[in-house]
Amino acid sequence: MAKIVIIGAGVGGIPAALEVRKTVRKSDQVMVISNTPTFHFVPSNPWVAVGRRSPEQIKVPLEKMFRRKKIDFVVNPVTKVIPSENALTLADGSRLSYDFLIIATGPRLAFDEIPGFGPDGCTQSVCHVDHADETNHRWQEFLKAPGPVVVGAVQGASCFGPAYEYVFLLDAELRRRKLRDQVPITFLTSEPYIGHLGLGGVGDTKGMFESALREKTIKFVTNVKVDGFSNDKVTYTEVAEDGTDKRHDEASFKLSMMIPAFTGVEAVRGIDGLSNPRGMILVNDKMQNPTYPNIYGVGVCIAIPPYEKTPVPVGVPKTGLMIESMAVAAAHNIRLQLDGQTPEARPALNALCIADMGNTGVGFIAQPQIPPRNRSLSFQGWKMHFAKVVFEWYYIRKIRKGLTSPFYEKFGLGLMGYKELKS
Ligand SMILES: Cc1cc2nc3c(=O)[nH]c(=O)nc-3n(C[C@H](O)[C@H](O)[C@H](O)COP(=O)(O)OP(=O)(O)OC[C@H]3O[C@@H](n4cnc5c(N)ncnc54)[C@H](O)[C@@H]3O)c2cc1C
Repeated sequence: MAKIVIIGAGVGGIPAALEVRKTVRKSDQVMVISNTPTFHFVPSNPWVAVGRRSPEQIKVPLEKMFRRKKIDFVVNPVTKVIPSENALTLADGSRLSYDFLIIATGPRLAFDEIPGFGPDGCTQSVCHVDHADETNHRWQEFLKAPGPVVVGAVQGASCFGPAYEYVFLLDAELRRRKLRDQVPITFLTSEPYIGHLGLGGVGDTKGMFESALREKTIKFVTNVKVDGFSNDKVTYTEVAEDGTDKRHDEASFKLSMMIPAFTGVEAVRGIDGLSNPRGMILVNDKMQNPTYPNIYGVGVCIAIPPYEKTPVPVGVPKTGLMIESMAVAAAHNIRLQLDGQTPEARPALNALCIADMGNTGVGFIAQPQIPPRNRSLSFQGWKMHFAKVVFEWYYIRKIRKGLTSPFYEKFGLGLMGYKELKS
């Protein structure tokens, strides 16, 4: 009997656990360790931040579902991974061993890298459901006495979609209340151009997002390096093509939300061979750590090099579809290792994403997500808003019922490695 432990019960950890359970032998033990008893559907956080969803609507309690699926569920944050001893330490001081480990802890939000940044400083966040809830409280106050808004993503950020979503949602909500004329909005981004998304753009995201910002009179600045935030303003440097400082400026705000850079969580940082200097898990194309072959990384916590050199550093986003394909590949590779074979399942790393814009939206498909691509398409219109609402319903239901990924398999978008392996 082998013990397979998954750290994290999010968009990566849950599919990984369910797929491992389906794939390994009945006698093997599967255990999920999480620092929270509920799943949060992170893509709905921007809706929580403007009061369109309550936090409860996007949370799913996990204990019963995991029990039904014969997966042990432990709610106790992991404090350290000790790969040389195949062991973990937990917040209550206990120690736990494993035969195989899947790390799916998501990111640590690196607000501490910029003075005054983040919910403990002067800005709001949508990266965690609790932050989004706080942001909604701040938003409700703001509506009583509106003023300037600054939204965007700072240097080193990799997750640009929610910044676009949030700024367009704010715009839609303000127009609905006939308050938009009292709110100058500025969008500051480290991207080299609007719609780059850390990926060199997908289809015509450059044209679509830029035109939408212009149409909605949202002022934007690209190649931005934020120097710091105070209670009512952000100071920043606009960087030139050659990486030199071009212009120093500031923007006032009454409400600001900017996406931070991500690092690995504390439990995996500073471990030689396991994580890089920013604490992201090192993996090969089978999602396996090269130094510790019984450890896999899935989701936002893995190290992927930037797609291209940009004047201000930006990272590559890790999106839901590619994360599920990582989870499936890791599960199948563990089964291969249990059978004494060599891991060979590779995730397809395709992207299917929708950025909601309030009553319309932008969607894109990228196969694979990182260029060069076989296919890249982008769409815009009210159907994208509708598709996001349907997808939220589908995904939360899928987690409630503990379903694996028929959607992705059916549409052949995510699981090339899985399909290759099955055929
Ligand atoms: C606001 C926002 C919106 C997004 N929208 C989209 C979208 O529309 N479409 C898309 O494709 N992608 C989207 N993404 C990107 C990505 O899909 C999500 O970030 C996704 O949640 C990442 O999954 P994950 O499993 O890596 O991390 P998470 O879903 O964050 O899960 C990690 C889990 O690990 C737990 N954990 C962390 N540390 C520990 C520890 N020490 N011990 C135990 N448990 C721990 C956390 O509590 C969490 O439950 C979005 C990202 C953000 C931030």
